Amino acid sequence: MFKPLDINENKEKNMGEITDVERVKCLIIGSGPAGYTAAIYAARANLSPVMYEGLQPGGQLTTTTEVENYPGYPEGVTGPVMMEDLKKQAERFGTDVRWGMATKVDFSGEIHKVWIDGSKIIESEVVIIATGATAKYLGLEDEKKYAGGGVSACATCDGFFYRGKDVAVVGGGDTATEEAMYLAGLCRKVYLIVRRDELRASKVMAERTMKTPNIEILWKHQTVGLFGDGVVEGATLIKNKGEADEEEVKIKIDGFFLGIGHKPNSDIFAGYIDTDEIGYIKTIPGTSKTKIPGVFACGDVQDSIYRQAVTAAGSGCMAAIDAERYLSEKHS
Ligand code: NDP
Repeated sequence: MFKPLDINENKEKNMGEITDVERVKCLIIGSGPAGYTAAIYAARANLSPVMYEGLQPGGQLTTTTEVENYPGYPEGVTGPVMMEDLKKQAERFGTDVRWGMATKVDFSGEIHKVWIDGSKIIESEVVIIATGATAKYLGLEDEKKYAGGGVSACATCDGFFYRGKDVAVVGGGDTATEEAMYLAGLCRKVYLIVRRDELRASKVMAERTMKTPNIEILWKHQTVGLFGDGVVEGATLIKNKGEADEEEVKIKIDGFFLGIGHKPNSDIFAGYIDTDEIGYIKTIPGTSKTKIPGVFACGDVQDSIYRQAVTAAGSGCMAAIDAERYLSEKHS
């Protein structure tokens, strides 16, 4: 079964003996646009940041193809190239970028402790959490088979490539209806595949979706597979018509979008940092500050609303500035 990369999933692995304890000034956990931007600013402020990249160096953008909505790239750029550029920029100013995964934290003292791969402890005056979020997938083998070939979990990122085409969105919540509405403005037809006979989305979004002429809601349908020669050309669904009465339905589509939610990668901070009911880290509004002095959060792990590369980068900048001010006040 396909499982997207998740920073939380390996946290119990490799919990061997501690072989090394290292003291640093600024530790950044996670390496998407938020983490790298925090690193660029922290390095330029002489905080000598150490970054642990996590399981998926570069974060979610490394799984997308073309990025055309990040300012400064008039011709667009691929997600992996953009992340490589950000990494080089962070390293140019002295960020120590390392392979490794934070597996546990202790934020109870003035100096924060973070376990790396269960075998090393980093002690740091400030910690910037930039661990991102992971889009949920259905768990179908075909999602993996067609990754980069018609399967996407971000309509704002990839919708443009399906202009004038037919696509499907799975899910019935605010994410799915928002994706469907966005895609309806670009595509010829949008199927919204909903597993129940009602939407979970807010009333206003549900009404808007149902009123949009080129969105067709497929109630009580579940996706069981995708088909196509190298790229997605259609999806196979099961329509539940009542008790033990099911029918296989095939739809022709060029794009298959997941809208069944995201999981913020915040599990290892539970117990120290406040989160909302889904797991998004709570920060003091207008800042990157968590309730623990010296611990800051940026990017998708604390953003349930915008979740864009450019907003993540902006919040990474805020985290580094907040960290720098915290340290200068502490040492003044
Ligand atoms: P939700 O959990 O609200 O909705 C998930 C949807 O996906 C549900 O319709 C659910 O079906 C469906 N689903 C889940 N798993 C599967 C599956 N395996 N197969 C088929 N369908 C599945 O997640 P969202 O991401 O939509 O929203 C999360 C939170 O973020 C909400 O509080 C939402 O309001 C908020 N949000 C706010 C936005 C805004 O304010 N602009 C934008 C996006 C999200 P079922 O209903 O049957 O469980």
